[in-house]
Amino acid sequence: MLTATRLTKLYADVRAVRNVSLNLEPGRIMALVGASGSGKSTLLNLLAGLADADSGEVRLNGERVKGPSEVLVPGHESIRLVHQEYQLMPNVSVRENIAYALRFFEKSYRDFRVNQLLKLCRLTDVQDRIPRQVSGGEKQRTAIARAIADKPAVLLLDEPFSHLDLPNRLIVRDLLFDLIRHETIDGSATACLIVTHDATDALSIADTLGILCDGKLIQTGAPVDVYHRPINAYAARMTGPVNTVKYKHFQLFGLPESDNLDALICLRPEQIKLTDSGIPATIRAVYFKGSHYEIDVEVSRYISLRLLTERSDLQAGQQVAISIATSGIWPVKN
Ligand code: ADP
Ligand code: MG
Repeated sequence: MLTATRLTKLYADVRAVRNVSLNLEPGRIMALVGASGSGKSTLLNLLAGLADADSGEVRLNGERVKGPSEVLVPGHESIRLVHQEYQLMPNVSVRENIAYALRFFEKSYRDFRVNQLLKLCRLTDVQDRIPRQVSGGEKQRTAIARAIADKPAVLLLDEPFSHLDLPNRLIVRDLLFDLIRHETIDGSATACLIVTHDATDALSIADTLGILCDGKLIQTGAPVDVYHRPINAYAARMTGPVNTVKYKHFQLFGLPESDNLDALICLRPEQIKLTDSGIPATIRAVYFKGSHYEIDVEVSRYISLRLLTERSDLQAGQQVAISIATSGIWPVKN
């Protein structure tokens, strides 16, 4: 439905977005993960028609999305971008902020739709407050309600979780999941793109996950595939906790010979197990994580690994043994 082809955007000597192509489909969520400065916000502005591309193009249902230099009012009527800072009108209520998006509709429909959105986004109780009188989570939900009020074809979200505490992150995550997966509109649905520097929340609701590195989309795939088969150490780190160890230091685990001894092995903490007899290791630190513990162990001068366990009897300095399923690991470029 929304197609970007070889988008490139330069700022003076910075190539903020390089040759990015992607597709967003109705009723589907794509998440792009990238470090700060990797071009996430610039890409969203290009997709929304709020910045002019240096090359490449964006099409919505086959029709080209024009950049701000080509139109009187920048932006596209069916593409909504929720900015990181929400950009709500500060002096009017939550309700009025949402209703404003529906100002061209008849009052009876507007009232009906605003009530529906307030309920859906769990804002009914705070509808008469102005933005500075509500929490960050409520502000984010107001911005989302406003963005989807008139059922846009495309919803773009810039770091929707980054200003929120954990309970609110989960509320917003679940809300987005419900909105995109279940709120079909007259048989059509909204396509959604979330960009974030922290994959934790996006990983669980995205249908497709992309990794953005220095303006380039270096990998896309199902979240589970990108998580288990990142193409490089950056993609591995952007999608969750990972141990990276030089191949040459890891050969003692019985890996096959390799030409590239500086390549890295990426090992997720859950791929390492504590065993009764295995590779000897010393516990360096124990972190309580609620449902489990994170343990840092030292295997040799060069190899420190983090692993997960439910055991509560471990402490720093203790000798343990670990095992690693070496069949599931492979070297990647740094
Ligand atoms: P992200 O949202 O991933 O943090 P941005 O898209 O904001 O990344 O920025 C990508 C790159 O482009 C960065 O190097 C940033 O410094 C640069 N950049 C962004 N906006 C501008 C601008 N208006 N002028 C010059 N450089 C910019
Ligand atoms: Mg940004």
